Order: sequence, then C-alpha cells, then structure tokens
Amino acid sequence: MNALAQEIAALIAQEGPITLERYMELCLQHPRYGYYLARDPFGAGGDFVTAPEISQMFGELIGLWMTEAFALAGRPRAARLVELGPGRGTLMADALRAARVAPEFLSAIEVDLVETSPRLRERQRQALANAAPKVSWRDSFAEVPRGPLFVVANEFFDALPARHFVRTPQGWRERLIGLDAAGALRFGLAPEIEVALHVEAEEGSIIEVNAAAQRLLTEIAGRVARDGGVMLVIDYGYTETSLGESLQAVAKHAYVDPLESPGEADLTTHVDFAALSRAARAAGAKVFGPTTQGEFLSQLGIARRAETLSRRATPQQRAEIDAALRRLIGTGDAREVMGELFKALAVAHPALPEPPGFGREG
Ligand code: SAH
Repeated sequence: MNALAQEIAALIAQEGPITLERYMELCLQHPRYGYYLARDPFGAGGDFVTAPEISQMFGELIGLWMTEAFALAGRPRAARLVELGPGRGTLMADALRAARVAPEFLSAIEVDLVETSPRLRERQRQALANAAPKVSWRDSFAEVPRGPLFVVANEFFDALPARHFVRTPQGWRERLIGLDAAGALRFGLAPEIEVALHVEAEEGSIIEVNAAAQRLLTEIAGRVARDGGVMLVIDYGYTETSLGESLQAVAKHAYVDPLESPGEADLTTHVDFAALSRAARAAGAKVFGPTTQGEFLSQLGIARRAETLSRRATPQQRAEIDAALRRLIGTGDAREVMGELFKALAVAHPALPEPPGFGREG
C-alpha cells in the first residue's frame, strides 16, 4: 500500500466506506499525494497525451473560434478568457498567438486560468510569459470575476469525480469504497438507498453520474446566461445518457486497477454530454452540439491549416503534421484517433448566434 492508500484506509476505518466521488477527489486532488498535485502527467514520458500537445493546430483553431464567438457576442468592451485545467499552458499559448488576427479581442480580454496544481501553474506561467493580456490564476471557477466569459475546457470535465449506483432488488445502491478482511481497499455497496433513481434496469446494472461536472456546468452556464459569452467543452464521452460505467485508471499509457495505487494513476470517467446539456439548459443557457471533435475541427478548417503549415515544412515535419491531423480528426480505434470518441459542446448566452463548428454540414 502506498502512503495515500494507507491514509484512505485509515479514514475508512474511522468513518466508514466512502463514495467514489470522495475517493476520486482524494486520488486527484490530495494536497500531498494527489495525482495532479504531485506530477506533470503529459507527453510521451508521462501518462497520457492531450490534443494541444499533439499539434499547435488544435489551440490555434480554438483561439480563432474564441475571436469569432467574441464577435458574435457583440464585441464586449471587457471580457474574460477562461481556461479550466490548462495543463502545460500549450492550448492557451497557441490560442493567444492565433488570436493576434483580432486585436480588438486581445485588448478586451483578461485571462483566468483555473488550476489547482502549483507545478502545472509554473509550467503555464512559462508558456504564457510573452502573452499580451493580463493572466491570473484561480483555485476554482467561483473565483473568476464577473463579466462576459469565453471559457474553454479541454480534457477537464473527465477529471472531475463521479458517483456510481448499482441496481439491487431493493433499488439503486451507491457504490462505495471500503476495506476487505485484510484491510485493503475494495468496492462495496451502501447498506441503504439514499438517492431515489427512477430508472428501470436489470439487477447488477450500473449508473454513472458525473456529479461534480454537472454542478460546475450549472454554475458556469448560469454565469454565461447572465453575463454573456460562451463555454466550449471538449472531452471524451458519449452523446446519450446510458447505463454502464467508464471509470478508468491510466498510468504510463496503460490501464491499471483504480484501487491499486491511489494518486499514482490518472482516474477519469467518460463525460455524459447529454447530462451536461440538460444542466446547461436548466441554468438558462443555450446549447450547441455535442458534435464530434473530428467534425468540429474539420468545420473549423483544420485540413486547410495543415496544408498551410505543410507548405513551409521539411518532409519529416510534413509527415508529423499529417500524423497529427489523423490523430485529431480520424475515426476508428479510439486508442489511436480522437475524432469520434471526443465531443465538442458549446454552452452559450441565449442570444448568441450559432458559433462555427456546429453546423450540420461537414
Ligand atoms: N487541458 C489540458 C490538461 C488536461 S488534464 C490539456 O488538454 O492538455 C486536466 C487539467 O485540469 C490539469 O491541468 C489538472 O491539474 C487540472 N485539474 C484537474 N482537476 C482540477 C480541479 N478540480 N480544479 C482545477 N484544476 C483541475
């Protein structure tokens, strides 16, 4: 058992079994041993690779998307460009560079980066050292000042803790983490039914609720509906709420047991985009999408951008641009290409016209 597993076991011994939400929160955000707090997980030498780390085209297209959304919102005199979980700061650096084509956007915005990890904050500070707008770091979205918001979250919502409910003859019981006879962590069920879920399913079925993601989305959608602007969410997940669970633990590009070494693996669940859309609408916002990442980036003109970059590239670089393009928009095996499994969703002020990337045509 590692140090965090021992701490969690002691907590359970004292207070009883804990929810998956609490367990994920401890694994990811524990101030000393939490996954994101203790390491830089990105890149070939890390645990996983994200779209902005694959190619500069990703962040550039999002930067241009933001300038167009800003124009559609009527070019507010002052606005905030917010990123949730900016990782190494690559997406924001590429986005701000591309946004130089829209000086009125750059002069209107201040940048807010919502990030809990001091290590990643330092990487972000380096990546944005030459950025023109003022950049501030926030521990949570609630700290972002009022005003029209242009928010981007790439592979952020999947990292927020979820809850599981299992169908039993008595109803849906929450899946908890407790201790086995030897004192090791193991999954179990809550003795009582605390939440009434009105869903019919066979015994043994699991429902996964992106509890923290829905709460955060409600908060941001409410702000956007009141103050103006839009949020762009890109993540892996599904379009329709369905039965089944998607909890996964990844370390060094391989799947591991989620209870095995808490804090040492990235713990995520797929994002339920239907549930996020419902939460956004209930909070008064308008929703565009979800559409697939492949469709979204294609509509934004990623193929043309790749061609432009290729013209000035060496043969080796050209092969890399080609490979990156395929990875970002390709359809097929989700372990190799992101085009289908990843989705894009926009949550906007009710008066915002349709932003680029969400049209019907390909
Ligand atoms: N968007 C980046 C990184 C994705 S990984 C990219 O695409 O490369 C998730 C990021 O969210 C990391 O920066 C992590 O430190 C941050 N993070 C995770 N949970 C968080 C939380 N609850 N609050 C703030 N930041 C969080």
